[in-house]
Amino acid sequence: MKNVMFNSTRGGDINVPSIKALVRGIACDGGLYVPTYFHNIGDLSRLANLDYKSLALKIIRTFFPEFSEEEISNYIESAYDTKFSTPQIAPVVNRAGVYFLELFHGPTLAFKDMALTLLPYLLMGASKKSNNPAEIVILTATSGDTGKAALEAFKDVENTKIIVLFPSEGVSEIQKRQMVTQEGNNTFVIAIKGCFDDAQNAVKQIFGDEEFNNIAKNRGYILSSANSINIGRLIPQTVYYFYAYLQMLKAGELTAKEKVNIVVPTGNFGNILAAYYCTKMGLPVNRLICASNENNVLYDFFKTGVYDGRRTLRPTISPSMDIIISSNLERLLYDISGEDAEFVKSTMEDLNEKGYYEIPDKFKNNMDIFYGGYADESDTLAAIEDVYNKNDYLIDTHTAVAYSVYKNYLNITKDNTKTIVASTASPFKFTRSVCDALKMDTKNATDFELIKLLSRETKIPIPTPIYNLETKPIFHNILCERDDVRDTIKNILEI
Ligand SMILES: *Cc1c(COP(=O)(O)O)cnc(C)c1O
Repeated sequence: MKNVMFNSTRGGDINVPSIKALVRGIACDGGLYVPTYFHNIGDLSRLANLDYKSLALKIIRTFFPEFSEEEISNYIESAYDTKFSTPQIAPVVNRAGVYFLELFHGPTLAFKDMALTLLPYLLMGASKKSNNPAEIVILTATSGDTGKAALEAFKDVENTKIIVLFPSEGVSEIQKRQMVTQEGNNTFVIAIKGCFDDAQNAVKQIFGDEEFNNIAKNRGYILSSANSINIGRLIPQTVYYFYAYLQMLKAGELTAKEKVNIVVPTGNFGNILAAYYCTKMGLPVNRLICASNENNVLYDFFKTGVYDGRRTLRPTISPSMDIIISSNLERLLYDISGEDAEFVKSTMEDLNEKGYYEIPDKFKNNMDIFYGGYADESDTLAAIEDVYNKNDYLIDTHTAVAYSVYKNYLNITKDNTKTIVASTASPFKFTRSVCDALKMDTKNATDFELIKLLSRETKIPIPTPIYNLETKPIFHNILCERDDVRDTIKNILEI
């Protein structure tokens, strides 16, 4: 089997083994690591009986040749266990004319669990294999969701610690409660007085603080961020698209080699990039439909070839997609330019200096598989109401963006290819907006009350991870000033 290595999209770091790419996260030249090769997964009709974990092993192994089959298998067993509320891990539900791929059955009820539950094991394994084995300290600022998902993922994983900073003023009551009730001996949660940018800047300062990093290193710690550009997050995301296809094959919904469309509600372009990578590994895909909310930079990009970040962010009811600069798009640019690292480098410089870039016509054709669409706030609410009223199926705001964009696509193109919609969050995670969409009275109710109301109204049980959240014991109560973050973290690490 050909050995996969990793290259930086900007050309300054080539043929890096997976264990290094995992531990470093981002390449030395600021680029992102991309695999040098994609193995074909083989004849899919012969794989239809594989369960999620066996399929994950088959796919993920091909990218990490430095790990033994047994190691990867152990990691997968630890990641996709009873933390997930269904042994199927990522079930497919055929409703409303599409196949919803439910990626929200993990511990924090959103798709980031799919990769974050595996990442700690990959990082820990990679660190053990490196020349300087160290304890991994994950340091992350969060506006709510990623922090909780990372805390759950790293909880009690040996040789790791996780420290999450959240803005005391900037997260919802439920998000806050989820974090301060976090269990695990290696988890630390810090509320910082200020907004998300304050938390983010505090973390950035520490990553750039050479003295701090040296002290930490001497004590056997290595700082890492677990952010979404790490290959350890990207690669596990390819598994569920194959899994969806295999479930549809098994149910007789597809014939061998029949193509599907995949719709992905997109923010940082990580989830949809994984779907694109699947096409290189043998998944039969007709169109990849990139769904944006009102922050529709990507919609404009696929229409015009111009990526223009010179606009202000609009907060929406699908907040996990409120992004102006989609980092993972850099990996697509690398691919459609025929792996032209010089091109990627200068394009990223343009983006940095001028706030926008345009790609040459000759590369535009190489992204014909993508279709960009967007849904505004009222489209999104209407999609939730429509799917619920007509099909008795409840979707969250992000999934609703995807569904709305798909409906539009269908209207315009009349393309009747069977279509998978990535369903990225539980509706109970964005309860207030979902209740609003169903025209329930939300004005005087707290978020906790709304969860109960929504469950009563829809007869869907409250998901276990947020059941009883209100009465869970609080383990974390550090509240610190912006300027005290460094000392607080030193205290935690005892350095
Ligand atoms: C992160 C997230 C997205 C966007 O995924 P990207 O990989 O950043 O494009 C969509 N929906 C939900 C619920 C998310 O948490």
